[in-house]
Amino acid sequence: MPEVRSEIWVIAEQHGGQVLPASLELLAKARELAAEPGWSLAAVLLGQGLQDLARELLTYGVDEVLLAQHELLTEWQTPAQVKALAQLAGEHKPQVILAGATASGVDLAPRLAARLKTGLSAHCVDLEFDDRGGLFAVVPGWGGSIMAKISCPTARPQMATVLPGVFAPAQAGEAKGQVIELAVDLSPDDLGYKVLEKVEVPPAQSALDGAEVVVAGGWGLGNEKDWQLLPELAQALGGAVGSTRPPVDEGWAQENQMIGTSGRSVSPKLYIGVALSGNAHHLVGIKNPGLMVGINKDPQAAIFDHCDLGLVGEAGEILPALLEELRD
Ligand SMILES: Cc1cc2nc3c(=O)[nH]c(=O)nc-3n(C[C@H](O)[C@H](O)[C@H](O)COP(=O)(O)OP(=O)(O)OC[C@H]3O[C@@H](n4cnc5c(N)ncnc54)[C@H](O)[C@@H]3O)c2cc1C
Repeated sequence: MPEVRSEIWVIAEQHGGQVLPASLELLAKARELAAEPGWSLAAVLLGQGLQDLARELLTYGVDEVLLAQHELLTEWQTPAQVKALAQLAGEHKPQVILAGATASGVDLAPRLAARLKTGLSAHCVDLEFDDRGGLFAVVPGWGGSIMAKISCPTARPQMATVLPGVFAPAQAGEAKGQVIELAVDLSPDDLGYKVLEKVEVPPAQSALDGAEVVVAGGWGLGNEKDWQLLPELAQALGGAVGSTRPPVDEGWAQENQMIGTSGRSVSPKLYIGVALSGNAHHLVGIKNPGLMVGINKDPQAAIFDHCDLGLVGEAGEILPALLEELRD
C-alpha cells in the first residue's frame, strides 16, 4: 500500500469565481468523516485570481485550502485541471479525493484516477469509513435493487464522485485554518486543443426545482394517455410532474423530469409515486420528503417500504378517483 497522509481532499469546483453547491455539500460530508482522530480536511481550489475565494472557503470547516493558480486554470479545462491535481496529489499524497458528480466532475475524476493509478467509485450516494480508515462508497447497484458498499483496499488515494443534492451543504462559520499556495507546472500543450469560441448554454430548468408537491409516475402507467393523468393531478395539487427513467425512454416524460441517480433531486413536502416500483436509482433523488404516498397495484412493491401512505390498486382507477375528489 502506498504511503499516504490521513487527509481528505475535496475538489472545490469553481466556475467564474463561484464554488458549486455540490462542492459545499461534499465539504459538509467530508468534515463529518475527517472528525475521526488523526484526519484532516483540505479544499483544493484551482483557478486564477482566487485568493478571496480561498479565504472564504476557510469558513466552511476545512483545515486548509490548497490553492493552485495558473492562467491555464482560469476557465475550467479538464486536461489542465487533471494535470494540476495529479501533480498536487503526487506531491502531497492525500488518502481520499472527493469530487462532485457534476458535469465537469464526472469528466475530471476518472481521468485523474487513471493518472494516479487508483480506483474511482462513481455516482455515490453516501460515504463512510470502515474501522481501519478505509473509505466505503455507497452506490446503487444491480439496476438499483441493492445499495453496494465499495472500497478500494490497496490503491491510494481512494477516490469518489458524489451526486449533487445528496448531502446538505456546509454552512459558513468562523474562518479557521490557512490558505496554502501551491505551484503547478502547466503548458498550453497539456490541453491538446485550442479554444476557438465559447458558447454559454443556460442550465436546464425544471418545474421540479423547488417544487413542494411532486407527482412522479413510472413505467406501470403503461401508455401516454394514462400518463396525462399525472399533470392533471399535479396541477390540482399545485405541484410538478416527476418521472422514473422508463417513461423518459418512452417519450412520455422529458429528461428534466427524471428523478434519481442520473436525474434530479427533489425535496417536496408531498411526494406521490404512481405505478413505480421504488427502485433505489429513483429513490436516491428524493431528499427529506414530507409526506410520501405510493400508488401501486402490487402490495409487495418496494415503494411501500418508503411511504407514509400506500394505495394498492390500478393507477388508471385511483388517479381519476383522486381527481374527482379534488374537484369536489
Ligand atoms: C446506472 C443507472 C442509473 C439509473 N438512473 C435512474 C434514475 O435516475 N431514475 C430512475 O427512475 N431510474 C434510474 N434507473 C433505472 C432504474 O434502475 C429502474 O429501472 C427504474 O427506476 C424503474 O422505473 P419504474 O419504477 O417506473 O418501473 P418498474 O420497476 O418496471 O416498476 C413499475 C411498477 O408499476 C407497477 N404497476 C404496473 N402496472 C400498474 C398499474 N396499472 N397500476 C399501478 N401500478 C402498476 C408495478 O407493480 C411496478 O411496481 C437507472 C438505472 C441504472 C442502471
